[in-house]
Amino acid sequence: MGDYDVIVIGGGFSGAVMAERFANLQNKRVLVIEQRAHIAGNCFDYVNEAGILVHHYGPHLFHTNKSAVWDYLSQFTEWTPYEHKVLAAVDSKLVPIPFNLNTLEMMFSHDEAEALKQCLIATYGFDSKVPILELRQSPDAKLRELAECVYEKFFVNYTTKQWGCSPEQISPSVTARVPVVISRDDRYFQDRYQAIPKEGYTKLVAKILAHPNITVTLNTDATSLIKLDVQSRTITFKGQPFNGTLVFTGMLDQLFAYCHGELPYRSLQFDFQTLDLEQFQAATTVNYPNEHRYTRITEFKHILGQKSAQTTIVKEYPQDYDRLDPTKNVPYYPIFNDQNQQRFDAYKTLVDGFTNIITAGRLADYKYYNMDDAIANALNYFVAKDS
Ligand code: UDP
Repeated sequence: MGDYDVIVIGGGFSGAVMAERFANLQNKRVLVIEQRAHIAGNCFDYVNEAGILVHHYGPHLFHTNKSAVWDYLSQFTEWTPYEHKVLAAVDSKLVPIPFNLNTLEMMFSHDEAEALKQCLIATYGFDSKVPILELRQSPDAKLRELAECVYEKFFVNYTTKQWGCSPEQISPSVTARVPVVISRDDRYFQDRYQAIPKEGYTKLVAKILAHPNITVTLNTDATSLIKLDVQSRTITFKGQPFNGTLVFTGMLDQLFAYCHGELPYRSLQFDFQTLDLEQFQAATTVNYPNEHRYTRITEFKHILGQKSAQTTIVKEYPQDYDRLDPTKNVPYYPIFNDQNQQRFDAYKTLVDGFTNIITAGRLADYKYYNMDDAIANALNYFVAKDS
């Protein structure tokens, strides 16, 4: 069967955790094949020329309510506590987002804000979180008016930039990630655990992969080594039959040579700038829903509280994914709607025809996972198997 029991395609969080679990729990020999020149997938970070730890594929802020994920990762890293806060540039002011009672008071007169606050609390309860699309359906006319205002100023233009369509045209779960918060909690996430790996995500993933049974090859296109035969449901690796387990964390349409058509993704272009300034902005991230072509600016030094005479920022320009255009060929977000889901399901049926392929991660599952979801899924695969 060759040298390896398990081949993992993709060295991001999902691939790394799957590799580590197979090696550690089952003593399997694992090969991880990564097409890029680095591990850690889109969580890849590094210290740049100004000494600042930057996230090469945009800001990644770890948060979870899942103790199992937190405990697992804590074996491989120490943490720097960090609670993400985001400001939005709206009405020529910087106000907290998620929209919460503090935001309300910054945007309305005292009396208006007081009345709306009472109404929000009476309708939904203090400390509740209401997706904007739900608030727009509120039974109360005053709240519907508020929802319209929040929708117009915070959501509609940002979402149009980010996704190329309106909030109604994508899954409601997307805008529900940033609900209206009926409390004074300004934090972007409310999870129990919020922290950044002390030495960054790349070092963390390197530690996860640092098992003697695991071999990692970078700069390697897996499709040149691995062939799937859908008819006979067999896998070959370097021309030899491979009967071990294949863990696939890439795009299913690519794995099956686009036989059911392409799965749409949204991509991003990043504009990094290092400036001779101690600080560029007051928060890690400032969102620009209504102006500019970019959606947000992130200033990295805030994340770990780094001190330096310079600062590095990144602007994010959303764009369609295009696998044939090197400036657009990094997939970041699956675009899930009914049509795309059906296409994905057709690919999933092909995968399921093989008894020895496991899919994992945001790309292969075509789901808008957060980091902790990806890790939890990989861990759960083994919990289910062991019980
Ligand atoms: N969103 C918005 N305005 C904002 C922030 C978010 O309309 O100021 C919407 C937008 O559709 C976005 C989604 O909420 O894609 C989820 O936002 P999140 O910050 O979770 O996106 P991510 O960090 O994953 O890109």
